Amino acid sequence: MAKPTNPSEIARETLRMLATRRMQPSPENYRTIYQEIAGVSDDDSPPFPARDLEALLASLPRDSSEQQRLGRQLEQAIRNQSWDDARTALVDFIQSVSTRADLGWSELIGDLLRLWEMRHSGLTPARKREALEHVITSAGANNETLFSRLQGLTRSWSATPGAGGEVNLVDEIDEEPAPSGSAASSGTATLPLSRASELLPELRELFAFTLDSVVAAQLADEPEMAAEARTLAAEIRSVTKLKSFKALQDGLRRLAFRLELSTEDNTELRGGLLHLLQLLIDNVSELVIDDRWLSGQIDAVREIVGRPLNIRAIDDAERRLKEVIYKQSQLKQSLNEAKEALRSMLAGFVDHLVDFTDSTSDYHDKIEACAKKISAADDITKLEDVLAEVMRETRAIQLNAQRSRDELRAAQLRVEAAEQRVNELQVELDRASTLVRHDQLTGTLNRRGLEDAFAKEAARALRRQTGLCVGLLDIDNFKKLNDSLGHDAGDAALIHLATVIRETLRPQETVARLGGEEFLILLPDTQLHDGERALQRLQRELTRRIFLHGNQKLLITFSAGVTLLTEGDDQASVIKRADEAMYQAKMAGKNRVVRA
Ligand code: GH3
Ligand code: MG
Ligand code: MG
Repeated sequence: MAKPTNPSEIARETLRMLATRRMQPSPENYRTIYQEIAGVSDDDSPPFPARDLEALLASLPRDSSEQQRLGRQLEQAIRNQSWDDARTALVDFIQSVSTRADLGWSELIGDLLRLWEMRHSGLTPARKREALEHVITSAGANNETLFSRLQGLTRSWSATPGAGGEVNLVDEIDEEPAPSGSAASSGTATLPLSRASELLPELRELFAFTLDSVVAAQLADEPEMAAEARTLAAEIRSVTKLKSFKALQDGLRRLAFRLELSTEDNTELRGGLLHLLQLLIDNVSELVIDDRWLSGQIDAVREIVGRPLNIRAIDDAERRLKEVIYKQSQLKQSLNEAKEALRSMLAGFVDHLVDFTDSTSDYHDKIEACAKKISAADDITKLEDVLAEVMRETRAIQLNAQRSRDELRAAQLRVEAAEQRVNELQVELDRASTLVRHDQLTGTLNRRGLEDAFAKEAARALRRQTGLCVGLLDIDNFKKLNDSLGHDAGDAALIHLATVIRETLRPQETVARLGGEEFLILLPDTQLHDGERALQRLQRELTRRIFLHGNQKLLITFSAGVTLLTEGDDQASVIKRADEAMYQAKMAGKNRVVRA
């Protein structure tokens, strides 16, 4: 009979055999006969407990990637019904848990304490505490998560350069055994994906450090931007949610854009400085008459360099230097010419005086000698000789006198010509004072200075897309003040107003006198509404700082129009709009500001 193969047949055959052999139907006897029929030996493993193992697998924790891997290993073993594999997976699982628990924690805490004590640049104790609290609360009650996050934290702290030396990320990468694939053979250092993600906290910290310590340090002159860089660094260190990461991205883009603008400004600033120095150096060779001029200019430049660099201060210094240089060169020329003319006139005069005295005293001596000869003459023929001599001498002195007169006349003409040239130069200098950029009375910019300043501010505002506000103000009832207290009082009032404006405005704002009692103010980085408020603040300041004439207190007020530069505007169109608004302010009762 064929040997039964399926379990129910084997079971039936086993029962039959137990009966035939008159054996007791105990479990042991049943198993012995069953194995005999099925053809398996007694030392084979007991049946595979798949169901029990599956239940066990389901209840195992899967918090770390290691646990997940071991879980999958056990699952595979159950599927293969391999008791050996299952046992290995379970033992590994238990070992991995106990190794972490025993060894890892003490090492990790040691590392944490060591790094906590260490000084890291850009990583204050407060920041460390904040990061640690974040890790503890975010891990919740899960030990595995807490362990791996704390490990990440120690990695990021040790990646931060500090007193203990720098971190060499590259070395760490190089230590990674090269994978057997193409990367190793091609010689390119490619990180395995798992390792790259481990580096993420380090890269994040390096990025934050770059913003915090490097970028912020470069922005010493821009405290606002430096603070922004530090805030972004703190956000990079703490960001966990995708949503806040998006906001961080936007913040970084904004900072990058502002950094770009600031770099452009710095280039402009450097250009301005270089130009200024050039002017100064060019002028040094011209300064031969009086070196007090030289020291005056050097003082002005020293003052600018002493203050924090500011493009407008440099513009202003350049304008002032140009004026001084121009005036000096003109004055020096006329002074030289006048001196030369005077010197030559005096020298000629003295020469001729000497010549004339010499020749006249010679003539006198000769005439006297002739007179003696005449009185002593006893012969008319001798008189003839004497007379001839007198006539010769007289003609000579006549010629000499004539020559002297001619020469003196020529010298006089030369002096007159020199005088005329000096006068011409004076006129030229007066005309050239239109090249001067500052108003002589108030020291604010004049129209010419305004042209320069307006061109620069308008270009800056359009390039940076920041508003340029322009305010035009006109003193109220100024004619009355002039008429009642005199022109000098009017002048003093103009000087007072200019002083209050200069001291109330921000350093980057510019004031120019358009003429009479009208002033123009340029307010960079300002929108219309803020420009209006700035002018109103000026009005309040003028009320507070009352103008004193003698011991008479006088309230000066002004009316103003304010407008915003738009694309396509030029100086004339902007002034026209501001002037129209100013006129509205006058019509509405004066002492107010109207927006165009
Ligand atoms: P409103 O309030 O409408 O502006 O009247 P106002 O009197 O201020 O204006 P108006 O234009 O009638 O008079 C301006 C006066 O300013 C006329 C002129 O005598 C005076 N003025 C112009 N330039 C100067 C200057 O440089 N010094 C002095 N002291 N007065 C000046
Ligand atoms: Mg006026
Ligand atoms: Mg007026």
